[in-house]
Amino acid sequence: MSVAQILRGKGRDVVVTQPHRTLMEAAQLLAEKGIGAVVVSDASRRVLGILSERDIIRAVARHGAGALDQAVSKYMTQKVFTVSEDTPVDTVMETMTNGRFRHVPVTADGQLVGLVSIGDVVKHHVNEIESEHRALKDYIATA
Ligand code: AMP
Repeated sequence: MSVAQILRGKGRDVVVTQPHRTLMEAAQLLAEKGIGAVVVSDASRRVLGILSERDIIRAVARHGAGALDQAVSKYMTQKVFTVSEDTPVDTVMETMTNGRFRHVPVTADGQLVGLVSIGDVVKHHVNEIESEHRALKDYIATA
């Protein structure tokens, strides 16, 4: 199963911000949308970075509340791990575990086309287990 299947279920909308926005604006966006990370992108939807709630917490813990007036570009992760739509979900899960992050942007031809969170991956995994379980029960019942 690939990332494309997850995107078919959840859609392709991704909440983005721009590098010059402040951490406070990014924090407000996370709160308003009820999400844990925003992709930092340019006008042509290329991925420039990712900023998660952890980055904001770390910035405030290290630099005080004044960090909230500073630019997203200063605190975002620039080396973003991205996947394509044909990446297997198992690969995404493994990478999230090894890299200790919970969000992976999906790109096609260098442009942002979706985002997969750890919640999406877990949901997909549970659905797969449930359908395997159902198939096994049907098989046993008809055997
Ligand atoms: P998260 O677990 O996604 O909230 O993020 C934990 C840390 O990993 C933060 O410093 C993020 O900026 C960073 N991060 C999140 N997603 C990615 C990603 N796909 N590639 C690289 N770093 C990431």
